Amino acid sequence: MNPLLDSVQFIKGVGPERCKTLNRLGIHTIRDLLYYFPRTYLDRTKIKTIADVLKDGKFLPTEEQTITGKILAITLQRTRRGINVLQIAVGDDTGIIYATWFNQPFLKKNFQKGDEIILSGRIKYYKQPFLESPEYEIIRNEEQQPLHSGGIIPCYPLTAGIGQKYLRLIVKRAMEKYANHLVNTIDFIPEHPANLLPIAEAVKQIHFPESEANLKLARDSIVWEELFLLQLSMAQKYYSVKKSPVKYQLKLSEQLDSRIRSRFERDFAVTPQRIPFVLTPAQEKVIAEIKEDLVKPYPMNRLLQGDVGSGKTIVAVYAILAAIGNHTQAALMAPTEILAEQHYQTISRILENSQVRIVLLTSGIKKKERLEKLELISKGEIDLVIGTHALIQKDIVFNKLALMIIDEQHKFGVEQRETLRAKGENPHTIVMTATPIPQTLTFTIFGDLDLSVIDQLPPGRKPVKTILRSSAKLAEAFSFIRQKIHEGRQVYFVYPVIYEQRAKSEEQVENKVVLKSATQMAKQLKAQVFPEYNIKLLHGEMSEKKKDEIMRNFRAGKINILVSTVVIEVGIDVPNACVMVIDHAERYGLAQLHQLRGRIGRGAYNSYCLLFGDVTTPESEKRLGIMEETNDGFRIAEEDLRIRGPGEFLGKRQSGFPEFKIADLSRDLEILKKVRQSAFTLIKQDPQLIRYPYLKHQIPVNRD
Ligand code: ADP
Ligand code: MG
Repeated sequence: MNPLLDSVQFIKGVGPERCKTLNRLGIHTIRDLLYYFPRTYLDRTKIKTIADVLKDGKFLPTEEQTITGKILAITLQRTRRGINVLQIAVGDDTGIIYATWFNQPFLKKNFQKGDEIILSGRIKYYKQPFLESPEYEIIRNEEQQPLHSGGIIPCYPLTAGIGQKYLRLIVKRAMEKYANHLVNTIDFIPEHPANLLPIAEAVKQIHFPESEANLKLARDSIVWEELFLLQLSMAQKYYSVKKSPVKYQLKLSEQLDSRIRSRFERDFAVTPQRIPFVLTPAQEKVIAEIKEDLVKPYPMNRLLQGDVGSGKTIVAVYAILAAIGNHTQAALMAPTEILAEQHYQTISRILENSQVRIVLLTSGIKKKERLEKLELISKGEIDLVIGTHALIQKDIVFNKLALMIIDEQHKFGVEQRETLRAKGENPHTIVMTATPIPQTLTFTIFGDLDLSVIDQLPPGRKPVKTILRSSAKLAEAFSFIRQKIHEGRQVYFVYPVIYEQRAKSEEQVENKVVLKSATQMAKQLKAQVFPEYNIKLLHGEMSEKKKDEIMRNFRAGKINILVSTVVIEVGIDVPNACVMVIDHAERYGLAQLHQLRGRIGRGAYNSYCLLFGDVTTPESEKRLGIMEETNDGFRIAEEDLRIRGPGEFLGKRQSGFPEFKIADLSRDLEILKKVRQSAFTLIKQDPQLIRYPYLKHQIPVNRD
């Protein structure tokens, strides 16, 4: 039907064997090949002779220089200070230049004497000029004849059995024969800038650009298309959830509303002095959004974002009580036992002396007890089930599940959310997250959800003061900490690992990068620093029972110092804890540090986050410095995304993250907003894209 979807084998020169190899690169169809974009380009127009570079380099130290030549010698040495220096000498007809890489001895195996190599990098001087850690591209055997002369030459990511030259050839053939089948999808986006290239032209230019300017335009155009297609699939998912009606139509009366609100004052954790509890405007706004959705005949599918401590729980409780008030069941799933239990306690307190029947379902409970609870749930004799992963076990059957809420959703995979969803009859769903996610990511990963944001903290919070010091200065903080404990406050110490680690490599021994551990530090702090205080250890390998006990004692104020790993990261609420020491701070992502820091600053006391880290490079200092500068989770998230890229930012747990060929989520927000609008409008009118078969087959999910 659409020749672009034919097998890549239709291209001349692609036989069954090559086809298999191409498959390994993810290239199955002709479209795949056309959308297999170069990783870099060799700008042959910019290649200089070595003599010229040596001359220019002196005056243009910041400019990137590109040369090509033959590798004449390779040496790997270690300086007296223990730095590995890998050096290659490269020569052309006009001279010799050195290229040097520091502490990357493993690169050595990539080079062989006699290789033709292209180097791009900046010239540095140390006794003599050299290229410091240049980009390199080795041109072996099959491409020894000159590539295309002049022009900008594409370089593709390769796999064994496929060379650059071959790829260039088949891409060129595919383009000549099939590019005219590429429909200009950009026409579907009314708001696109006028100067974008039509997609067929853009695809041509991205493979074989006529100029830098064209290449840039081509990329821009394809970014629009790429994001638009993704948003089409998001829109399809969005509307597919809304397709089948809910089984339990909820109603919300004024009366129910005020009954729910009257309970909120019982959240005494917040209001120990019994000041009347007032929801923040942000909470009110989100509650209004949720209320509107709850009474609709189609299921709500909403992401509730709010920085740590912004008060998401009470909003969740509103929704829960709305469902229960309609004689249906609700479920609340949390990622850890501690957190599930905390929710259980908070909500039980709020619902004290009410008729609401709550159970806590964790994996720790005994089999018999569990079976009893399950039976009550399936009979509908329980209104609210709070639990961990235990909630998505097969044997749990709900009676009338109308609402499910997932807390700290980033700790769960997409499948787990779906499993819980499948347990109800098209229940309303709210997923909550305290990880502020940059909007671009929200639209991408959660693009099929409606979004509510609590963008305001409850009043009276004092911003956490954050101080960054080098690890060596840890001891200087001890007297300050002692004073705080003396005043009655509690303290967290956070370490990246549970146990002491043996250095794994020679390199580690040499650089003494052996991590301090929670276990070791708990002992040491007790024995040498704070013998007078109650210090306890908390980590993920302890039994649930043990962890619970410690957390409970900590919340009750019986423990002065909690030495822990990141298990305390999520959702724990102990307002009296107001100092957090994070050692080896350089080990954490910014978003994670922000999460950790969110454990303090929850009460009326001044709070301090003391970061100790190896800030040896200007980058790490700048990165961690952001923590000192701001408490704004969204800003931190943007920075983190920029520095680490989307994959790392989200961590491995977040499955289902689409890979982009060229769109850049740390940059393309404005485009994303526009294409999203267009995509949703289109899908609303034609959810199956029946009138747009071309688009339908371009969408990532429909393709595989
Ligand atoms: P998170 O959004 O991180 O889940 P929580 O729901 O745990 O935050 O709330 C953090 C703390 O703020 C809790 O102690 C909670 O009782 C309190 N809190 C929530 N809303 C308000 C409010 N409107 N006014 C005062 N305190 C509040
Ligand atoms: Mg929470």
